[in-house]
Amino acid sequence: MKSVGIHNMKRERVLVIEDESDILELLRFNLKKEGYDVDTATDGERGVDHARSKAYDVVLLDLMLPGIDGLEVCRRLRADPRTESLPVIMVTSKGEESDILVGLGIGADDYVTKPFSIKELLARIKVVLRRSKTAAVSRSDKRPVAKGGIEIDPVRHQVSVDGSPVAFTLAEFRLLHFLVRHEGRVFSRTELLPHVVGDGVVVVDRNIDVHIRNIRKKLGDIRMHHLVTVRGVGYKFESHPVGLPSVG
Ligand code: CA
Repeated sequence: MKSVGIHNMKRERVLVIEDESDILELLRFNLKKEGYDVDTATDGERGVDHARSKAYDVVLLDLMLPGIDGLEVCRRLRADPRTESLPVIMVTSKGEESDILVGLGIGADDYVTKPFSIKELLARIKVVLRRSKTAAVSRSDKRPVAKGGIEIDPVRHQVSVDGSPVAFTLAEFRLLHFLVRHEGRVFSRTELLPHVVGDGVVVVDRNIDVHIRNIRKKLGDIRMHHLVTVRGVGYKFESHPVGLPSVG
């Protein structure tokens, strides 16, 4: 079975908002060389529009821009649910120290001061990307989910089925939580295994089918149908599986 390695990961996308063409080209060239997808905007308003229309991983934001300045761009990004957690690195000039403080205060993640070394900037980008990924994962890991009559509270480690609490082993819990969180997507047994084993947890049975069977048993005669077997591929979770009478 093919495993998805780090080299197959999607390219990270950087939005550069900068009005000085020399710096813009320098950034574009070096970021592309480093393997990033790069989009650019030469004023603040267009930068905000770009950020809202596409999923970026990080924004490099010049502070002195024609029209609305970098601080206003940052404010608008933070005020919009689509971009509120989009990482922003400010690109500032000497003498803008007070703006840096304001920028960090309104939610920019980091800054570099012109003239900056490309090496340093790339290192900052990596740190910010790593931090934002960890934050996103832990946010989605901790949020309670309720689908198809199954409620999962990851913080309390509790599952209830149609309102009644049901006890799951740690391995079963992780597997169910993962599938529910990624509703509709089919995962092979190989892909599921790491989510069952997790960090430092000893799992007696590495056989996914056994865990699935146990989870279904605990979900009961009706809810068990939400865990769908996809022949020759693996498993998925469906809130509204085909053939299941609608029950809430
Ligand atoms: Ca500028």
